[in-house]
Amino acid sequence: MGSLSFEKDFEPSVVTPRGLIANGDFGEMKRLKVATATTPRKNLNITVTEPGSRNDGPSLDCILMNYIDTLSQRINYHIGYPVNICYEHYASLAPLLQFHLNNCGDPFLQNTVDFHSKDFEVAVLNWFADLWEIEKDQYWGYVTNGGTEGNLHGILVGRELLPTGILYASKDSHYSVAKAAMMYRMNFEMVNTSVHGEMDYSDLKAKLLQNKGKPAIINVTIGTTFKGAVDDLDIILQTLKDCGYTHDQFYIHCDAALNGLIIPFIKNQMISFKKPIGSVTISGHKFLGCPMPCGIQITRKSYINNLSRKVEYIASVDATISGSRNGLAPIFLWYSLSAKGQIGLQKDVKRCLDNAKYLKDRLQQAGISVMLNELSIIVVLERPRDHEFVRRWQLSCVRDMAHVIVMPGITREILDNFVNDLLQQRKKWYKDGNVTPPCVAEDIGAQNCACSYHKIDFIIP
Ligand SMILES: *Cc1c(COP(=O)(O)O)cnc(C)c1O
Repeated sequence: MGSLSFEKDFEPSVVTPRGLIANGDFGEMKRLKVATATTPRKNLNITVTEPGSRNDGPSLDCILMNYIDTLSQRINYHIGYPVNICYEHYASLAPLLQFHLNNCGDPFLQNTVDFHSKDFEVAVLNWFADLWEIEKDQYWGYVTNGGTEGNLHGILVGRELLPTGILYASKDSHYSVAKAAMMYRMNFEMVNTSVHGEMDYSDLKAKLLQNKGKPAIINVTIGTTFKGAVDDLDIILQTLKDCGYTHDQFYIHCDAALNGLIIPFIKNQMISFKKPIGSVTISGHKFLGCPMPCGIQITRKSYINNLSRKVEYIASVDATISGSRNGLAPIFLWYSLSAKGQIGLQKDVKRCLDNAKYLKDRLQQAGISVMLNELSIIVVLERPRDHEFVRRWQLSCVRDMAHVIVMPGITREILDNFVNDLLQQRKKWYKDGNVTPPCVAEDIGAQNCACSYHKIDFIIP
């Protein structure tokens, strides 16, 4: 996702900023709170200064406080990217910052150094293994630095098992999949998608038949990044069978970055190692919520020997992608999972789905083009015309579309503010009729398009 930047001015928040400062104890910094905190700024203009030369400028704590204040304001406008900012645990976990925790190497093996959190890591892995129905002694996995690393790992496992395999991924797959194909120099078949963003299975079938004789490594997206479409694993497995691919001729990696913790609470057993899949990956900082980027990668233990290398320096075996790994992330994940539990997660899922539906209905009633896929919390809408608006709400835009990702931290109040702001701005953008809202029929389907042409279509059938 894009990094936070403050290049554009923004309006002071109209709702109470949630979270950050109110519950936190930042001690000294609290008292240093500066009066100008809500003033719009163009750029934070941070420089590294020598300790002796700061007499004329603000103190380090003051700069930090200012930054935290800005973040606390902007959090009410954080609706365009899939991060869950609802975690209450940073205060309990803050003392961990006094240690350097590094989970370098294999989570299941002995370390020479004690400053790791592998016991927490294994607890988290066991939880996900259970969720995805694989026995403890049958799986291998690790806590990654994010969904991307999980994809890089899963596809590598597939490539090592089937070295001549062709990588298949849909057009709407995350860009990290194409990155993997490039890094590993794999042959890559891009599969078409429907207007909703789901894999086009007839195109997959055609390509599988065309490449018959070469193994298939398939990336299945459980919740596409932009439209939130879920590729149907069962149809893909059936397609492989219909095309005559036996189990030893294909490898399936499931990229469940966002929806991996949503689907199991709506459609149980959709993602399951009881099916012939090779790996599943998920981002830890997305639906679950974790202040640092991280992810979980689970694969079959029997596959991993191909990849493991003895590394004398760390006195361990390493089958992971990176060297040093963040030892804080597994503890945060463990804390979140334990604090929420299955019931808490289920509640989050239900609330997000309800709120996404609420937003979709409000936009639809206002005559705005909008689409919401089944099993998804991503509301796709027509691209707002004005860059300022897009920047204020931190929206991600593709062609003539934008999306709002209705994460657990997003309240109806925030959604109402967004809709009201959008309606108000639209009146300005389109008031004289010279410009009209974009047609998004090709992007989200004519039935979801409310442009002047398709709206008329809709009224006079
Ligand atoms: C976000 C996302 C990723 C990448 O995850 P990071 O944690 O950002 O590396 C991969 N796949 C999908 C479908 C995603 O939405």
